[in-house]
Amino acid sequence: MKFATQLIHGGPAVDPEYGSLCHPLYHSSTFAQQSMDHFGRFDYARSGNPTREALEEAIASLEGGSTGLAFASGMAAISSTFLLFSPGDHLVVCEDVYGGTFRALSTLFARWGLTVTFVDATDISAIGAAILPHTKAIYLETPSNPLIKITDLRQAAALAKRHGLLTIVDNTFMTPYLQRPLELGCDIVLHSGTKFLNGHSDVVCGFAVTADPEVGKRLQFIQNAFGAVLGPQDSWLVLRGLKTLKVRMEQSQSAAGQIVQWLESQQCVTKVYYPGLPSHPGFQVHREQASGAGAVLSFELESYILTKRLLEGVKLCAFAVSLGGVESILSYPARMSHASMPAEEREARGIKDTLVRLSVGLEDPADLMADLDRVLNG
Ligand SMILES: *Cc1c(COP(=O)(O)O)cnc(C)c1O
Repeated sequence: MKFATQLIHGGPAVDPEYGSLCHPLYHSSTFAQQSMDHFGRFDYARSGNPTREALEEAIASLEGGSTGLAFASGMAAISSTFLLFSPGDHLVVCEDVYGGTFRALSTLFARWGLTVTFVDATDISAIGAAILPHTKAIYLETPSNPLIKITDLRQAAALAKRHGLLTIVDNTFMTPYLQRPLELGCDIVLHSGTKFLNGHSDVVCGFAVTADPEVGKRLQFIQNAFGAVLGPQDSWLVLRGLKTLKVRMEQSQSAAGQIVQWLESQQCVTKVYYPGLPSHPGFQVHREQASGAGAVLSFELESYILTKRLLEGVKLCAFAVSLGGVESILSYPARMSHASMPAEEREARGIKDTLVRLSVGLEDPADLMADLDRVLNG
């Protein structure tokens, strides 16, 4: 089955009782048992709920994994995955990792005894040089946020295998429609499903998908023990959002390409970060591991004043955190996604105070460009 068909028909079979085309929503927190000796499929809904399970099967199948798990947020999926490790273990993490992941690692997990080396993961030798005897995993995001850096996933996974490490990839920006890290040799894919997977800016959720069923079982144990599960109503909404993933990604990506071209021709725009640009240093690597450049781009403006004018003056893009919704969203990494990172740390990573990130939604790109033009050149 091709991806678009899989989105529509890859889920659980049509409800045999009434033929409902959408998966039933089971709000129940517990399930009655028939006998003392034989418990049914479901007992308590933290451990499993049929609506959540349908979603978990859907995401596992789209990523090509053995086990899919749905969590209360992207951060819940990420933090639960870190619980696979133990105090004293060490991780190698890409330096422009999502701000919330940086915060969890540098505060909660640091206190707990998990140690981390942040590296420029575009350089495979830098990853290799950071591996210690007690390193357990390599943690990556590609394209990264907000500087859209590209890491070679095949090479990173091969390096990890040679050292007996897990490769974990936050695939939020690409979604399995554009990039499937498990097929490239990685072990665990994480998502903030809040973004493109749900796509409608109305649910906070997260996913973990594992290649190996054994790792899946360990993570499922953590999901139940730690308890940061996704509720049935949210699971049902994400099942609905997921059906249009392909058409949304295609449309937003095509619009993003047009906007990137337009931005490149603007004098006040000093730099554009987008993996679909042949001038992007990761262009070739990205092309070999993903089937498209996606719908998120960043750009730098010539001054702080213009940056402020843009963020406060634009009408068709929401000035907000988050991305991947049907609405275009402009965000300001220095004070939003990366606000929890100390200023020196942020500057050192190249996240300037004139940097803006745009997640392109489903508006007509001509209207979006006219709106940007009005503020930037008006
Ligand atoms: C938003 C985001 C997260 C965190 O997900 P939540 O659903 O907000 O908890 C993690 N990684 C990336 C790349 C994100 O964009």
